[in-house]
Amino acid sequence: DDIVVADLDASKCTVTHPPTFKPVPALDSAEVLSQSCTTDHMLTARWTEAGGWEAPEIKPYGALSLMPTASVLHYATECFEGMKAYRGADGKVRLFRPDRNAKRFLKSATRISLPAFSTHEFLKCLQRFVGVEARRWLPVDEKDDERFVYLRPTMIATAPALGVQKPKEALMYIIAVLFPRLDEPRRMPPAGAALATNGANGHAVGATPRPSTGMRLLASQHDIIRAWPGGFGNAKVGANYGPSLIAQGEARARGYDQILWLFGDECFVTEAGGSNFFVLWINEDGEKELITAPLGDGTILEGVTRASVLDLVRARGDVKVVERKFTMDEVVRAADQGRLLEGFGAGTAFFIAPVSDVHFRGLDVVFPLGKGEGAKFAMGIKDELKSIMYGRIQHEWGVVV
Ligand code: PMP
Repeated sequence: DDIVVADLDASKCTVTHPPTFKPVPALDSAEVLSQSCTTDHMLTARWTEAGGWEAPEIKPYGALSLMPTASVLHYATECFEGMKAYRGADGKVRLFRPDRNAKRFLKSATRISLPAFSTHEFLKCLQRFVGVEARRWLPVDEKDDERFVYLRPTMIATAPALGVQKPKEALMYIIAVLFPRLDEPRRMPPAGAALATNGANGHAVGATPRPSTGMRLLASQHDIIRAWPGGFGNAKVGANYGPSLIAQGEARARGYDQILWLFGDECFVTEAGGSNFFVLWINEDGEKELITAPLGDGTILEGVTRASVLDLVRARGDVKVVERKFTMDEVVRAADQGRLLEGFGAGTAFFIAPVSDVHFRGLDVVFPLGKGEGAKFAMGIKDELKSIMYGRIQHEWGVVV
């Protein structure tokens, strides 16, 4: 006797507006820079084990009400997505490969026993929400033809009971945040270390002028590991992020932008902060090669940007593309032998972010940003992706809302 429970149903979505709308602040205001500038509405949908998904509601942005016993507050039954809605040069609003975020959201949810849902209906809810917020938060602006808001679909288990068990109640919600341009060239003055010394092997910076742009990464140590085989690093669950903040804080305090997450005694290179990580080098066989860590062992998040970089470069066919495990020793050797060309992070928030150096075992491994070409390879990919996001190139990855 199967109990029929309701799936998520975007056609049942109701819309309630706030009595007044908040002013849209400038992109360089403190509120935007602090990444706390939410928009006027949020979308919520409740789920119960007995009844399934209730009608989604678009309603004024505001606080949630949760009992202190709610599962999410104890057992990290939370997952989320990160994506953007872009106002194109043609006035249309687009999402970038949102089907991939929807599938990953479902995968993350089910990894922590949160309820499944139709990704098709989720995308319709998301489109409806973006449609409501776009008029005020993504205005057509001739002076600024690259405007976006960051979207944060989230799911939490809400049932008020302390038992360690599969969630019986959940809440899905979507909020939007007016985000600063994290990928714009910006330099943090190194606070302390790292203006470092000449290394013995020629891969330390010493007197070499540092590239004026480019992320500086601090390689992680064995005491804090982001993800491990059989874990949940391949799911976008909150439990992956809280425990990483110590390392991130240390990187910032020492003048670096992000942690480069290594894994194992071999020091496998995995991800850079909240981004996937790519290296462009001349491989040991003398071929120009783009390399990134492979999916499959559970340590790498399947980034939408990662997939898109791989797809674009494979389609172009000018450099070899490999997804395989690689180690810091290989990167250091490439640097020593002058084969290292570029490194970059790839993710929604920081987009395509060239790396200028990685601090590893007391040495700064310098990524020469394409050897004076200003990270030409990474920047070329970034331009191509941007053209799709902002509708300058018509492409199936750019989904009009
Ligand atoms: N790795 C991690 C750990 C992340 O949090 C993110 C951001 N979602 C990424 C990679 C990049 O994924 P995407 O390109 O889908 O933003």
